[in-house]
Amino acid sequence: MSAASMSASSVAPFSGDDADLDRHVAPPDWVNPTPAKRYHLVVIGAGPAGLVAAAGAAGLGAKVALIEKRRLGGDCLNFGCVPSKALLKSARVMATMRNASGFGVEVPNGTRVDFAAVMRRMRALRAALAPHDSAERFRRPALTRSTSMGRRCDSVEP
Ligand SMILES: Cc1cc2nc3c(=O)[nH]c(=O)nc-3n(C[C@H](O)[C@H](O)[C@H](O)COP(=O)(O)OP(=O)(O)OC[C@H]3O[C@@H](n4cnc5c(N)ncnc54)[C@H](O)[C@@H]3O)c2cc1C
Repeated sequence: MSAASMSASSVAPFSGDDADLDRHVAPPDWVNPTPAKRYHLVVIGAGPAGLVAAAGAAGLGAKVALIEKRRLGGDCLNFGCVPSKALLKSARVMATMRNASGFGVEVPNGTRVDFAAVMRRMRALRAALAPHDSAERFRRPALTRSTSMGRRCDSVEP
């Protein structure tokens, strides 16, 4: 996307969708539990790897502590896979529009990227996917979270 084809409108740093995202993956009203004395498994980091490891172990009956210092979902949901693919899709749509005449399709002049709208779409998609990685989901059948040395700790108990 060239700078010239982008909208000049600003991109809000924090949207309603971001609040939804936080509600799922970093609930502001989360109450930390008293940690258990022993766990079968302690997983540090609730990115894709940690979530799968914790859920898998809990599914096998293990008592699991899942520790996350920022947002459940890790890089993939919050900064990596999901946001980048949303942005790439918009870039591809624009590229297709630019090359449309090569396919025999006439596109009206003035086609441009509204970057604020691109970012809104990305944030909406991220919020829509957040329930899959959410504290609510990993609370089941029982999930507790505590803070230890400034870190949040989620435990999934069978
Ligand atoms: C721009 C971009 C695009 C990507 N696109 C794709 C894609 O399309 N497909 C794909 O398969 N992969 C993609 N990836 C890679 C993917 O994001 C990673 O492979 C994946 O997130 C790794 O998961 P993870 O759980 O190992 O680590 P992470 O996702 O990095 O999660 C680690 C978690 O641990 C937490 N943590 C770290 N230290 C501590 C600590 N001391 N205490 C508590 N918590 C801690 C972090 O806050 C984080 O939440 C992309 C990555 C980027 C950057």
